[in-house]
Amino acid sequence: MCIFCKIAAGELTTQFLYEDDRVLAFRDLDPQAPTHILIIPRTHHADVEELAAREPETLSHLFVVAEELARVEGLTGHRTLFNTGSSAGQSVFHAHLHLLGGRPFAWPPG
Ligand code: AMP
Repeated sequence: MCIFCKIAAGELTTQFLYEDDRVLAFRDLDPQAPTHILIIPRTHHADVEELAAREPETLSHLFVVAEELARVEGLTGHRTLFNTGSSAGQSVFHAHLHLLGGRPFAWPPG
């Protein structure tokens, strides 16, 4: 079972900021900004491409939850992103949306 499936199954001590029947959210272990939250589907999909093909409604729900969490965190601006493929920095192959905020972000991204 992958690490995020274990988290979704409640096998780790991860504290959830949000959960419902389709998705859950928790803070990143290695935060890259003052707010760095991961929003994941409960079901396993290797990346956002698979998630989009198999469960498009869950994909859009991840963004709805991210925007609500950005509001709860009091972020004035934020960045939401998926890393897809190891060349783009994906290290956990269970689709997850990053929500980052609380500092300025450069463009183009590094
Ligand atoms: P990515 O590199 O886009 O695949 O993102 C994976 C993210 O998951 C990284 O930012 C890791 O710091 C984070 N991560 C890995 N394991 C855990 C965990 N057990 N709890 C919280 N975040 C984790």
